[in-house]
Amino acid sequence: MLEPIIQGAGGMRIYSQDLLRRLRKWTAERGIHLIADEIMTGFYRTGKRMACEHAEIEPDFLCLSKGMTSGFLPLSAVVTTQAVYECFYDEYESGKSFLHSHTYSGNALAASVALEAMKVMEEENIEANVFEMSRFMQNALTDIAERTGRLQNVRSLGAIAAADLLAEKKSRFGFQVYKEAVRLGALIRPLGNTLYWLPPLTTEIDTLKLLQVMTEKAVLI
Ligand SMILES: *Cc1c(COP(=O)(O)O)cnc(C)c1O
Repeated sequence: MLEPIIQGAGGMRIYSQDLLRRLRKWTAERGIHLIADEIMTGFYRTGKRMACEHAEIEPDFLCLSKGMTSGFLPLSAVVTTQAVYECFYDEYESGKSFLHSHTYSGNALAASVALEAMKVMEEENIEANVFEMSRFMQNALTDIAERTGRLQNVRSLGAIAAADLLAEKKSRFGFQVYKEAVRLGALIRPLGNTLYWLPPLTTEIDTLKLLQVMTEKAVLI
């Protein structure tokens, strides 16, 4: 079970497409199911519709949520292969069904919002906007790192950019930066001392410029 290409809450750690490809091969050879948690990475966050596409692999299970409705209504889904589906599909009396029921499953309103969100993502070519955002974000965070001398390991992938604050181990620098950024008008919420940007995929460059200015000021606190 993995988060493909980038681990989110674990510290925005990016790893190689090659590792993912080899893991897929290794699990397939041993008959082990590969579960890809694309809850953060799915729906163009990393620049492709799904992060698994960077490695051109298909998992056996795909976990989806957040971007599925553009974060507008709560909806999650697990997508699986036909082979797995068949294990649980038969006439009712055979008792093969996968009994995992939840109060709000199959919520029609959330499902329609998801369908519409996916349509809009295609129509408005969100992929192209993510490409523009990506270029800007990587450059902007690198600039902040160079000008302030307080950030290292600048990294980015699609509309995700992250860097580590240079701080004493166990210090609460990240929290201070967070508080200052909120005061200035930017919600950046670092993971410990890892600062990251994860803006909506429709964000315009002018808005990212404001984010850059506020982040730089906050880092200099
Ligand atoms: C947000 C998140 C979750 C939790 O998703 P829920 O739909 O809230 O259960 C799981 N995995 C990743 C990678 C996430 O970003």
